[in-house]
Amino acid sequence: MQTLPTPPSGSVQIEDDRTGLSIETLKRAFLDNLFYIQGKFPALASKNDYYMALAYTVRDRLLRRWLNTAETYTNTQARTVCYLSAEFLMGPHLGNNLINLGIYDQINQAMTELGLDLNELLQQEEEPGLGNGGLGRLAACYLDSLATLEIPALGYGIRYEFGIFDQEIRDGWQVEITDKWLRYGNPWEIARPDWAVEVKYGGHTESFIDEHGNYRVRWVPFKVVKGLPYDTPILGYKVNTANTLRLWSAEATESFDFGAFNSGDYFGAVHQKSNSENISKVLYPNDEQYQGKVLRLEQQMFFVSCSLQDMIRILQMQNMSLEKFPEKFSVQLNDTHPAIAVAELMRLLMDEHGMQWDNAWNITTRTFGYTNHTLLPEALERWPLKLFSELLPRHIEIIYEINRRFLDDVRIKFPDDPGRLSRLSLIDESGEKYVRMANLACVGSSAINGVAALHSELVKQTVLKDFYDMYPEKFTNVTNGVTPRRFVVLSNPRMTSLITSKIGDNWIKHLDELRRIEQFADDPGFRYEFRQIKQAIKQDLANHIKSETDVEVDPSSLFDIQVKRIHEYKRQHLNALHIIHLYNRIKANPSAEITPRTFLFGGKAAPGYYMAKLIIKFINSIGEVVNRDPDVAGRLKVVFLKDYNVKFAQRVYPAADLSEQISTAGKEASGTGNMKFSMNGALTIGTLDGANVEIREEVGAENFFLFGLTTEEVAAKKAAGYRPIDYYESNNDLRQVIDRIASGFFSHGDTGLFRPLVDNLLHKDEYLLLADYQSYIDCQEQVSQAYRNWDHWTRMSILNTARMGKFSSDRSIRDYCQNIWKVQPVPIELKDYTQS
Ligand SMILES: *Cc1c(COP(=O)(O)O)cnc(C)c1O
Repeated sequence: MQTLPTPPSGSVQIEDDRTGLSIETLKRAFLDNLFYIQGKFPALASKNDYYMALAYTVRDRLLRRWLNTAETYTNTQARTVCYLSAEFLMGPHLGNNLINLGIYDQINQAMTELGLDLNELLQQEEEPGLGNGGLGRLAACYLDSLATLEIPALGYGIRYEFGIFDQEIRDGWQVEITDKWLRYGNPWEIARPDWAVEVKYGGHTESFIDEHGNYRVRWVPFKVVKGLPYDTPILGYKVNTANTLRLWSAEATESFDFGAFNSGDYFGAVHQKSNSENISKVLYPNDEQYQGKVLRLEQQMFFVSCSLQDMIRILQMQNMSLEKFPEKFSVQLNDTHPAIAVAELMRLLMDEHGMQWDNAWNITTRTFGYTNHTLLPEALERWPLKLFSELLPRHIEIIYEINRRFLDDVRIKFPDDPGRLSRLSLIDESGEKYVRMANLACVGSSAINGVAALHSELVKQTVLKDFYDMYPEKFTNVTNGVTPRRFVVLSNPRMTSLITSKIGDNWIKHLDELRRIEQFADDPGFRYEFRQIKQAIKQDLANHIKSETDVEVDPSSLFDIQVKRIHEYKRQHLNALHIIHLYNRIKANPSAEITPRTFLFGGKAAPGYYMAKLIIKFINSIGEVVNRDPDVAGRLKVVFLKDYNVKFAQRVYPAADLSEQISTAGKEASGTGNMKFSMNGALTIGTLDGANVEIREEVGAENFFLFGLTTEEVAAKKAAGYRPIDYYESNNDLRQVIDRIASGFFSHGDTGLFRPLVDNLLHKDEYLLLADYQSYIDCQEQVSQAYRNWDHWTRMSILNTARMGKFSSDRSIRDYCQNIWKVQPVPIELKDYTQS
């Protein structure tokens, strides 16, 4: 494969080489973009103008790779992965593109020579927050790895006008601010209006016999919405492959010669037109919580239908027959959000392309794979039948027919088992009727996977047990991963240089090679440097905290960090109980030996999730008391950092000494934050949940702080009638912690504020905080002791980084390619279009 030549600098070459990489050419291109795109000269330019000029300068250098990639895929009719996801939490593009293009240093120098600070320009980027948390970030990491591994791939999703809200903290409470990420324009996307498609909703169906004598169905919709694709290039690391993220934006159709308009209701029709644009207006801000709103189903149908129609267009453009659909495309459903794709592909093949049922079903089931992301019952998507049928009258017919045939198969395999039939049915008929999206995804896919070894086992034993009995061969595991380009190279340049100085830079693409730094874990010089780097990063974060919150934290204290969505199952409040325990200890004995700690929290709560919002207030209230109490000064600090997003994540993971991964066993499907921390040398305190199990296996039990009940013990405890109050009554220390909260000590004497939290813990405690309390406190004491021996701590920290190879998303993607997608790399050669 070729790489771009670096021309000598000089005015003649500049003219010939618009997208060259010499410092002079970069500076000239940057100033050109400032002038011709932003319409500014330096004296008038704002920081944002400079950011935009730089973004366009970088984008220009992506385009040749992007077009070469598209052309190669077209010419070779390459088998392509289509990753369907309602969320893509991409984070800022500029820094990542600089890393993947391999021009970070050149751009840095060019900016410096122009008197600009690259870091300031990087901070200027408004990140596309088109996701809630782990699931959306996973999709983004997978796009990076697909491109890096040179796999032909398309990401398909929704171009929300408003992504996840910006979080502010006022008086300790979360306040949501709309995320106007497109305010200043988005330099990374290109609209493709010529590939717009239409999506139908509502109305009714009519059957007829076509000219060949076949039974056909016509859908007469109530409304039609246009989907407009916006493409963003996704460049791999130091390869020529640039895949596409294609996000759909909803627009009104130009003509409306149907429905309301025909009935003479002109105003109603125009009103409906403006309503169509609402479909891609805003991301639903719930993580792990299903919300049965019509607009949400409209969103799902919208991006799924647009994407499948787009795939058919690509197939036809390449002169391939529809029969070839499953050979051309492998389509992955990221959770059940896109599961309607099973019915929609059937409809497109039969109603729009005249195919018969059996053929269409064969194509459909060979096309899809389904990834399950959660075991929480409140997250399982099921649509009220009435709502579903009114919005998608044709799809419900298709789903009934899929169900009829499927249940016949079940009866053959399991005769006389009506309980099984009702559990497996695509329609829940136990009370009010619902369409079960996970069941649809399972029946319509040839592969079903969980996202960590433990989770994949639990999927088979619990939520999808009946499907496992029916189709054991469909089930597999793919443990999640994260991209080391964004979460190590870009976010931790100092550690990256240190590692590279010892073992070269091959590890960036082959993360298993990090094992080669194990040999330096016992080298005092290396340990010293590793620790100095961690200290410097902590100092940076301390400065950031000071400027954001005015709280001073000591960078030599243990940085104990929990950043993730706020959820009761993730147990941020268990972490909070530990803080109160330490506080009580110091108050009872001011000379107690306590390892100084800084507790950092970050994360958004779903706006309608009352208990999660109360937990944010709780943490802030503890911080208010602890941070100003002179008795604990120098030993404890508690800070809740607002607006946890990808940009902030990149800053915070490298600064951690201790990573809090303390969910109730059996509740966290995988976690990926756990991996980002550990790659950056944090030690984990965690339960045997999700990927923690595999992280512990890799880094070694002696380098991991384990506590808490196992999944089986949790289940047994619940089955035996768990009584949290018994723990409260029998544990003095725990009782003092709970009583201090209940007394109003952290709420200016208000005993009502945290009562819902206290009552819940004492009388319900669904997530077993009290059962795990003592084990957690004891384990935290071990952490404190271990941190006192910094030499040994650093050794464990180095071993964590060294042994994280398995958790590169490159490994996850290789697993998907081999076991599920059956797709091969297609390397891209560089051709120069500008010369022809
Ligand atoms: C990695 C990441 C997550 C997922 O974190 P978990 O600890 O696995 O829940 C959520 N949000 C952002 C911004 C992330 O980068």
